[in-house]
Amino acid sequence: MEAELILTRLTVLRENAENQSSSIVRLREELRSKVAELESSVRDYNSLRIDLLMERLRERGLSWCTYHKNTFPVEEASLVLLSSADSGFSGPHRVCSECRKEVLAKHGYLSRRDDLHERGGILYHAFVVSEEGDGFSVVKFGKQESLAAKDFKVPQISDSAISHFESEMSLPLELSIENHPRSVPLRVRGERLKAA
Ligand SMILES: [Zn+2]
Repeated sequence: MEAELILTRLTVLRENAENQSSSIVRLREELRSKVAELESSVRDYNSLRIDLLMERLRERGLSWCTYHKNTFPVEEASLVLLSSADSGFSGPHRVCSECRKEVLAKHGYLSRRDDLHERGGILYHAFVVSEEGDGFSVVKFGKQESLAAKDFKVPQISDSAISHFESEMSLPLELSIENHPRSVPLRVRGERLKAA
């Protein structure tokens, strides 16, 4: 090939490469935005699925014990505050009547000396909580303290608990996302969907 011809060919190939490169950048941006849309749909779906679980529990007059992680009749619900003796960290719980008895017996509540209970290697106090206006009040060693509602959030229902109730409450299966570039991104309860 003559040098002139080679140069022309080189120019064409360079232009092709530049166009291909720009179109890959566009596709990547499009892919990123499609992935974000997919993530948002899956997030909304999974969150609505929890709403359905909560609604089914409500219809059946059930509440969710955040301590033993099972359902119980809503009228037995009461609030306790478990408070770490070492770190000062404290966490509210909505408990069934049995857990209330168990927690308060094991954790003491009546006296300062025998009220420590070990859970996951951490020592806790347990205190009874009651609703007070817009907030809550807790009695700690005979002294009453007020708690703002924002500082008193009972734990969200855990993933293990949700899967536990899936069949009992006829929940649709959970969706998730597979990030591997070669696989179909959407999974239903961890199983890959077949490519359409
Ligand atoms: Zn319980």
